[in-house]
Amino acid sequence: MKQIKNLSDLEEFQNSLNGRTVALIPTMGALHEGHLALVKVGMKAADVCLPYIFLNPTQFAAGEDLDSYPQTLQADLEKLEKIGTQTVWLPSMDDVYPDGPQITHKASDIAKPLEGESRPHFFDGVATVLARMFVLSKPDIAIFGEKDFQQLQVIRAMVRDYNLPIQIIGAPTARDENGLALSSRNVYLSEGEYQSAIQLNKIIKDMAHRHIDEEAARVKLLKAGFDKIDYITARNSKTFHSKNPDRILAAAWLGKTRLIDNMAIIP
Ligand code: AMP
Repeated sequence: MKQIKNLSDLEEFQNSLNGRTVALIPTMGALHEGHLALVKVGMKAADVCLPYIFLNPTQFAAGEDLDSYPQTLQADLEKLEKIGTQTVWLPSMDDVYPDGPQITHKASDIAKPLEGESRPHFFDGVATVLARMFVLSKPDIAIFGEKDFQQLQVIRAMVRDYNLPIQIIGAPTARDENGLALSSRNVYLSEGEYQSAIQLNKIIKDMAHRHIDEEAARVKLLKAGFDKIDYITARNSKTFHSKNPDRILAAAWLGKTRLIDNMAIIP
């Protein structure tokens, strides 16, 4: 597996493409089956699949888990190689943010509710890093997980806004055997917290089937052991307002771990 470690490697990679299409898979590392599923989608969607690993500081606020975010580069590379990845991009901080960054992006309306309320810096950081990654790597396709559903829609909006010639593909959420959405942050969970965590998907599912309303879902989450609920709510999947809801989205805390998940409302 070839490792692109600097901008001249990247240029060499681009010069070797000869018209072959590229699917970019943005990740922050600590790879799990969810990330690998995106890579597999990328392998089918384009001639060349290019995952990158870059722990992006601009999407973390002070006091969040940037410093403790799991970093498992060797294991990540082995996992990628095992599924047949030919090339991985490992951008350096200097390549991505040569001066800082000097220019940042501000995500607008659809970035304001839900995640935007809980983590006001987050989507600006995601848009800021992706603007650079898209310009540097010029992909034909970029693939993101539906697990981060609002993020996926913010990225679609950004690509539309700038008329970028990049097809955005959303890939389904990969889950463990108990339905817990895979996440790099799941390693923070104690055994007891894990038992609570696996209730999140079940409670979202109950709401998606209209068996319970938002208030009952909140009660159930607290009863299941969640310490704090940022939101569990039915929203429209394009506007993220409550009018014409078609998706349940949730974010809740177990100790210092914040879990998110979502699911389409069953019509
Ligand atoms: P991250 O490394 O957490 O920034 O995630 C990188 C990409 O993997 C994003 O597009 C995420 O939405 C996606 N992703 C993370 N977890 C999952 C999952 N369980 N299933 C599918 N995609 C995921």
